[in-house]
Amino acid sequence: MNGLGRAWSAARILVSEIRARRGNVTVPADWRVVGHCPTWCAGDHRCAVLAGSPAGEHRSKTILWRTPYGRLSVIAVQDAIGHRRVELGASVELDTRYATDTSHVLVPAIDLVIRAVLAGQPGRTVPMPRQAREVRP
Ligand SMILES: [Zn+2]
Repeated sequence: MNGLGRAWSAARILVSEIRARRGNVTVPADWRVVGHCPTWCAGDHRCAVLAGSPAGEHRSKTILWRTPYGRLSVIAVQDAIGHRRVELGASVELDTRYATDTSHVLVPAIDLVIRAVLAGQPGRTVPMPRQAREVRP
């Protein structure tokens, strides 16, 4: 097993341990909500469904996690037909001596952990990353 394979295994073990600590979290199979917002939706200007947009999305308030290195932000989003996603952000304080190296390692490391989390879902296939890829908008 190469280094990336060992990292993938470690990420899967990490995710499994975090899930074990949380216990089973069950959610309704159908998250569609017609005519009003789900309880987690901010229900204000952030919610385009309330504003009447057919392509609108329910959006939660931003949840901030303060950490020793900065902060993480999470917004839950659900479209009108029930597709859900989270929008994640990170603000990481960097030591200027290692800023370039750290930032080049952070993105593939975060990608690896997200893939490991998603790979633990029944019926979902998320392959191990082969190499880091940068996609420019
Ligand atoms: Zn809403």
